[in-house]
Amino acid sequence: MLIKLPNGLIDGLDHFNYCEIDELRGKHQNYLANRQLVEGNIGHLPLLLKDLIVSLQTKEGIQYKGKIEEVVYKLPSGDLETILIKVREKSFGPRYYFEADCPHCGANNKNLRVDLSSLELKEQPIEEILKPKTITLSKLQQEVELKPLFLKDLFEVIKIAKNKQDSVITSLVSTSVKRIGTNVNITSSDIDNIPASDIIEIEEAITNNTLEGTIDTNITIECKECNKEFQHKLQVFDASFFFHSKA
Ligand SMILES: [Zn+2]
Repeated sequence: MLIKLPNGLIDGLDHFNYCEIDELRGKHQNYLANRQLVEGNIGHLPLLLKDLIVSLQTKEGIQYKGKIEEVVYKLPSGDLETILIKVREKSFGPRYYFEADCPHCGANNKNLRVDLSSLELKEQPIEEILKPKTITLSKLQQEVELKPLFLKDLFEVIKIAKNKQDSVITSLVSTSVKRIGTNVNITSSDIDNIPASDIIEIEEAITNNTLEGTIDTNITIECKECNKEFQHKLQVFDASFFFHSKA
């Protein structure tokens, strides 16, 4: 199955934004059932992705020559989500059942259904991918360049949620920062000393800029209990996303 990615990989003059994917096989079921890999973690993702991405291609069908296990770390999170959703679709069909708690009344809505093939791809045009997303901080007067989230950032986000309760804000901001001034090796300690009002500027820029193309996984649901509408985001990076659901 050949799918289109919302970002893709740029290498020299080539834009590899098509991906040939495989379906889930027995060994992948084993990864998904491995509690050490998946419990409160996303250890299954690199293992699944390196197997299920068969090739990356340009629109003209030129194949990317690099190693797939490295490609997995070079594609923005929107591409990874797209690949995982299409793998689920190829493996079990487009119908996906899920549950969601209503934020208005707390009711658990069961047997909600979405057609995975209908999720909208919001592509990032190549000019946008190549254009640096920068802001200049009002107080520090330094330029900050923002970046998409990659697989290692997703692991960092999970680590932050688990261990770094005392530095959640600076750690989360650091996953979207590529460069401050001339410093390109950004960690949360680089953010620690930035004035709070400058951090708010970075957070606003992260929210207001489209840092990467995505697949729209926000589903609008009408609560069966109170009839109010709410948004539910599909948890594509969870191992449970691949459990075979039926209703
Ligand atoms: Zn409700």
